[in-house]
Amino acid sequence: MSEGTRVLVLNAGSSSVKYQLIDMLDGSRQASGLVERIGEPAGRLVHTPPGGQRRESLQAFPDHGAALKAVAGELAADGLDLDSPELAAIGHRVVHGGLRFTEPTLVTDEVLAEIRRLIPVAPLHNPANITGIEVARALRPDLPQVAVFDTAFHTGMPEHAARYAIDRQVADEHRVRRYGFHGTSHQYVSRATARLLGKDPAEVNVIVLHLGNGGSASAVAGGRCVETSMGLTPLEGLVMGTRSGDVDAGVVFHLHRVGGLSVDEIDDLLNRRSGLLGLCGDNDMREILRRSEEGDADARLAFEVYVHRLRKYIGAYYAVLGRVDAIAFTAGVGENAAPVRAAATAGLEALGIAVDPALNSIRSDRARVISPEFLRTGGAPRVTVAVVPTDEELEIARQAFALVRTGA
Ligand code: ADP
Repeated sequence: MSEGTRVLVLNAGSSSVKYQLIDMLDGSRQASGLVERIGEPAGRLVHTPPGGQRRESLQAFPDHGAALKAVAGELAADGLDLDSPELAAIGHRVVHGGLRFTEPTLVTDEVLAEIRRLIPVAPLHNPANITGIEVARALRPDLPQVAVFDTAFHTGMPEHAARYAIDRQVADEHRVRRYGFHGTSHQYVSRATARLLGKDPAEVNVIVLHLGNGGSASAVAGGRCVETSMGLTPLEGLVMGTRSGDVDAGVVFHLHRVGGLSVDEIDDLLNRRSGLLGLCGDNDMREILRRSEEGDADARLAFEVYVHRLRKYIGAYYAVLGRVDAIAFTAGVGENAAPVRAAATAGLEALGIAVDPALNSIRSDRARVISPEFLRTGGAPRVTVAVVPTDEELEIARQAFALVRTGA
């Protein structure tokens, strides 16, 4: 077994690869970067070595193999050779692990075949994740490759939360159920929130609001996920950058039968042209906040629809958990957009929920409490509202490292 302490984390998309090299001795980033537009004539690699000074190279990367070789070249130029015995494992983000993968898993041919078998339920993501694993294996066949699944944290959800109320035979035949995504982030943030409260994760109930380009909420009871807002695919739940989140399934039939749209067109509409983008033409919350301040009615409505959905989920998950110790905002919007945090929690004092305007407006990249120290709750227990930066790469690296070091 390697005595190395570094883990390379790879997040392979259909035309991109994000990577980070992390030293597990102290969790420090040795390097990070991104290859974009793989398979297109003009690709781009942005690499940030230890200590800053990012380097950009513009060239074509015909496939993921070429992209990873270029990444290896950049790392070698910084003395971070991928052949080095310092490297203990490569950790891969894999979006869909179905019901089989409940833990980080050492990649074997059989595991790869099983991830491939899940492509019908994750057609947009799993093929790229598989390619990432294959090219990394080709580069370092001797090294443990560990798959860390976005769905894993949610596999323990109770059956009544995971089931859609549709014909069971049909559902089972086609593996239609609520899987949930962003699990690595929900797991990391719920634990970090417990730490912020100075408690053991087993003692606390947390609502995690992961608000990035994609967005999802989860209810975590004593360290275990009991409900999450994404379902069979990452389309269900909150309003997102370009995804609608919850819609009546009848909308699909209506658009097909009455609107004449094909299934592929509706898929594209709900996944790529809806959400904030569909409502106001922008999917970046910064832009929406700016336009709203200038009095733009479309941007204001997009903000209100987004926040209204969020409040519904906070209320629903409060009822699911019964007792809520903390609400944690995370990811790009959750960590940075103070107006979203304020609006999502406004008027909920009777539930013990409030945000202190001064604390909410502080900018920081650290986990922090933003609820007031004293709150008139009308008898409800006080809920700590917090901003807790997520770090999916560190969590993937930790899980991969733990697996190769201890086999657990
Ligand atoms: P991804 O889901 O792609 O990982 P992120 O978690 O990085 O996304 O979140 C990206 C989103 O975060 C952006 O689309 C933007 O709307 C939002 N965001 C980033 N910074 C800010 C900010 N300062 N204020 C408001 N929103 C922000």
